[in-house]
Amino acid sequence: MKMDVLGSKYVRTRKKHQCMGCLRVFEKGHKMHVAVCVDDRIMRTYLCRTCDILIKTDKDEIFVDPCEGYYHEGCTREYLIDKGIIK
Ligand SMILES: [Zn+2]
Repeated sequence: MKMDVLGSKYVRTRKKHQCMGCLRVFEKGHKMHVAVCVDDRIMRTYLCRTCDILIKTDKDEIFVDPCEGYYHEGCTREYLIDKGIIK
């Protein structure tokens, strides 16, 4: 099943959010990319800048779940740990 994205933008967060890609938790006041998606309900997913950039560049095929066709929770985490970008 593929989720429809209704819209996405950068926001400065007003409370803490977990990044869907690397699963790090960011305190309020960070700039994060938020996407509003619909599958059977409306969801907001947050991505930190690192993950947002990573996902938008040529690494696409690594992070998309081949069965589902969209990014899943923690999709960038292993890659970032591998590269020593996060712990
Ligand atoms: Zn992230």
